[in-house]
Amino acid sequence: MTSLPADSHVHSEFSWDTGGPDSTARGTMRATCARAVEIGLPALFFTEHLDLEDAWFTNPEDFAAHERHLVGEDGVVAVPRFDVDGYLEEIDRCRAAFPELTIGTGLEFGQPGLRTDAARAQLDLTAFDRIIGSLHTLELGDHRVEPNTMFRRLPADDVIRRYLAEVPSVVAADGPHEVVTHIDYAVRYWPEEDEGPFDPRPLEEEFRGAMRAIAASGRALEINTRRLRPWIPQWWAEEGGEAISFGSDSHTPLALAANFPEAMAMADWAGFRPGRDPRELWRR
Ligand SMILES: [Zn+2]
Ligand SMILES: [Zn+2]
Repeated sequence: MTSLPADSHVHSEFSWDTGGPDSTARGTMRATCARAVEIGLPALFFTEHLDLEDAWFTNPEDFAAHERHLVGEDGVVAVPRFDVDGYLEEIDRCRAAFPELTIGTGLEFGQPGLRTDAARAQLDLTAFDRIIGSLHTLELGDHRVEPNTMFRRLPADDVIRRYLAEVPSVVAADGPHEVVTHIDYAVRYWPEEDEGPFDPRPLEEEFRGAMRAIAASGRALEINTRRLRPWIPQWWAEEGGEAISFGSDSHTPLALAANFPEAMAMADWAGFRPGRDPRELWRR
């Protein structure tokens, strides 16, 4: 049986959006490590959210119930500061409790092209094993909004176009991250009930252009396994992408390494091969 690669995109209780305090589904670091051992996952990186957005606007109904208290009267979102000390202490405790599992540190850094100075002022970014960079919010007037909010206001194709247009400057330019996450992030919120299933072909050139910018930056692209889209590793390889990571983006233990066997087959088919250590990126 081929061994699984590291899950390079995992959240724990140190991410502000992981369950509520009363949620039984809450993805604690400890329960997630226990799950990794149970399913034979050799390695993972806890990539907690680092969101330093200062003009993030939302409709309260676009936030999950347990997150709604983070939305101000004016619709501006303020998330709690990342507790890096508590996080590193729990990493140490889990490394001691699960010696058979390789536990890497990490961050999922939102909008690195806009917020890297702010991140450096708050954290020693060199202390993390794997930083992944994400585009979660898009410019709309004076604010930045998530794609789900933008889909309420603009034609669906335009939202995807705007997302891909921001990729070069926000996740393919400055930043400490070695991997760009979920290029299909906006597609997660595609309004299927009005538009039908998402078809990437009318937006192929825009996706390929965003991938070229990421490839030119020397970074890897994440295969986000929440939903598998075979055209992503295919177009990524065709546009010069050299490396990929695998990320479940789990916020609960049961979502850890979801769909990894299928994602591995998809990556292999697109020409990517594992390294010697499960922590390594797969390369062409
Ligand atoms: Zn994300
Ligand atoms: Zn994530």
